[in-house]
Amino acid sequence: MIPNCLEYATKAKAEGRPVVGIMCEYTPRELIMAAGAVPVCLCGGSEKTIADAEHDLPANLCPLIKSTYGYHVQGSNPFIEMADLLVAETTCDGKKKMYELMGQTRPMVVLELPQKPNDPDAFTHWERELHKLKSELERRFGVEITDCKLRAAVETMNTERALRRSLADLMKADSPPLTGRELLELKSSISGIRCDFKQYERALGTLPGRQAVPDAATRVRVLMTGVPMAHGAERVLDIIESHGGLVVAMESCVGLKPILDDVRLNGGGLMHALAEKYFTLPCSVMTTNDRRLDTLATLAAGYRAQCVVELVWQACLTYDVETYRIRQLAEEKLGVPYLRIETDYSPSDSARIGVRVEALFETVRKGAC
Ligand code: SF4
Ligand code: SF4
Repeated sequence: MIPNCLEYATKAKAEGRPVVGIMCEYTPRELIMAAGAVPVCLCGGSEKTIADAEHDLPANLCPLIKSTYGYHVQGSNPFIEMADLLVAETTCDGKKKMYELMGQTRPMVVLELPQKPNDPDAFTHWERELHKLKSELERRFGVEITDCKLRAAVETMNTERALRRSLADLMKADSPPLTGRELLELKSSISGIRCDFKQYERALGTLPGRQAVPDAATRVRVLMTGVPMAHGAERVLDIIESHGGLVVAMESCVGLKPILDDVRLNGGGLMHALAEKYFTLPCSVMTTNDRRLDTLATLAAGYRAQCVVELVWQACLTYDVETYRIRQLAEEKLGVPYLRIETDYSPSDSARIGVRVEALFETVRKGAC
């Protein structure tokens, strides 16, 4: 959907709508949309920008951070180039420090994301951060974000989440009508595009009954978790699906995690509801992050996962430390095999990953006999 997105953003910009780049799911797109702007995801998934990023950043940094920054220094991501504002957040140390460099030449707002999800003071601080973002958007773009505009944006995003949940639900079938890669391809870098909604509705009408691949019913059903696979960085997913697996559920922030819950529209105030929805995202930056384990257990049951594969980008400490608990959950509570894959954007270890994936599937098949 990237060409569609580029066309959409270019047209919106020409019509005078601001473009706002976001780099994490904690940023509420609703606020940006209510300001009349177009929110575009800027997470980098290309290996080609990393060498240039490494002139300024340490090599031993997560490839997602380096790739995003590489696009910035190269000026090669048209969405970054057309962005009137970047909204970032303190989700991990690497990102936070990279944003300081990016912010030297680009307008940027950094939200401080508190990291204790069960602490009421932390929540209050987060809600205040969102109010500050709202004021900044209003000031910068000369608009008022009224309750009415915010409600409309929330309704649009709730509709989008509901449609994407229904598409994901198709993967619960014995013989899913999509591969995990096809489902991922349906996700757009820009939210709230009406013709995307139409495309989702058409897909929901036509896909049931289709067979993703001839052997869809006998493939190993994989629950994938871990770091986000930005557009262009889907290599591990492809390896899994070219070695006899089918990724029936993807928990990461490019998959189900951000669409499982909607923003409540009844009572409590819209800004409060917005803060609540985003603050409860179970990402590894949170401490403790028990909600991620609960989500994984629910997904494993709902999608009848036969194994868990966890992807960790090199130098992503928070996800890597959490692998201990995810393995424990998979093996001891869910009773399914677990595989941790640590890699970066270079394809040099693809063959080795393929061998490990095959061994995992062999274990699953033996267990099923
Ligand atoms: S994994 Fe978490 S911190 Fe990283 S981009 Fe996704 S939501 Fe943000
Ligand atoms: S994958 Fe990990 S290190 Fe990379 S940006 Fe996300 S949280 Fe930070």
